[in-house]
Amino acid sequence: MKVVVVGGGISGLAAAFFYRRAAGSSARILVLDNHDDFGGHAKRNEFTLDGRLVIGYGGSESIDSPNTHYSEVAKGLLRDLGVEIARFETAFERTLYSSLGLSRGIFFAREAFGRDVLVAGEPPTAGADEVARQLANAKPLSEFVAAFPISAASKAQLLALYDGARDPLAEVTALSSLDVRAEVAPDLLRIARPGTPVEVKILSVPPRVFLDKVAYVVPSRPNAQSEARAAIVATIANADGGLQPGTPATITIHTRP
Ligand SMILES: Cc1cc2nc3c(=O)[nH]c(=O)nc-3n(C[C@H](O)[C@H](O)[C@H](O)COP(=O)(O)OP(=O)(O)OC[C@H]3O[C@@H](n4cnc5c(N)ncnc54)[C@H](O)[C@@H]3O)c2cc1C
Repeated sequence: MKVVVVGGGISGLAAAFFYRRAAGSSARILVLDNHDDFGGHAKRNEFTLDGRLVIGYGGSESIDSPNTHYSEVAKGLLRDLGVEIARFETAFERTLYSSLGLSRGIFFAREAFGRDVLVAGEPPTAGADEVARQLANAKPLSEFVAAFPISAASKAQLLALYDGARDPLAEVTALSSLDVRAEVAPDLLRIARPGTPVEVKILSVPPRVFLDKVAYVVPSRPNAQSEARAAIVATIANADGGLQPGTPATITIHTRP
């Protein structure tokens, strides 16, 4: 049996790995990638510095919450590959950068912003290498954004996105169409295909009903039983602006006759 996998990132490599395990070690698998090394976005970088080889990450730095977010299949893959999750606690030096007085920052390139500007002191946001604020040499968000080479109006809009007191999307008006997304139970996946008729009912008085079709289906995180899950997205025409983000609604999937 021969198989060709296009893309040598973690997805393609995992596919080849699972296939080989199912088909046996005599299976012939060709992994194609348009780069000089495998890994895709999780590829490593290698530098020679003063005659010494230094290895760093080129994209993925660490895996995000494998104990709680990973399915049994994904955890099994890590075990099979010999990845010891617990080693992270001793192998990852979380205070190195802060001890050197360094912080995260954003570089604004001249080509897009008119001049090169490096703004250091980025406050921590959710991320795999998140460090405590006191270790991040971070500035307050307003001070950090104030140094960006963008207009005052853009800075205010940006800061508003981080202001938990209000939801900027809830203030969007006059949408001519709206994507409505609904998580789908595993046993409904077989009918929740693009093109399946959907009914979106707004829980107003009187209720309003929009009829449309599933535009696309996106995978969701597996549930606690490691069952595949997906969300369906229907693009609903909304000419009179009756549907607003945050509007309570029920979504009904009509099966084909
Ligand atoms: C800067 C950065 C930091 C990140 N940090 C983290 C992190 O800390 N933790 C984490 O869990 N995730 C992180 N991620 C995300 C993670 O790296 C990706 O989700 C993951 O590597 C995606 O793997 P993949 O195999 O699905 O896709 P990819 O890694 O994108 O692999 C797809 C491969 O297919 C190749 N390809 C595409 N089309 C073709 C074609 N037609 N012919 C041949 N080859 C093709 C591409 O060149 C690529 O090599 C980070 C990503 C980036 C960019």
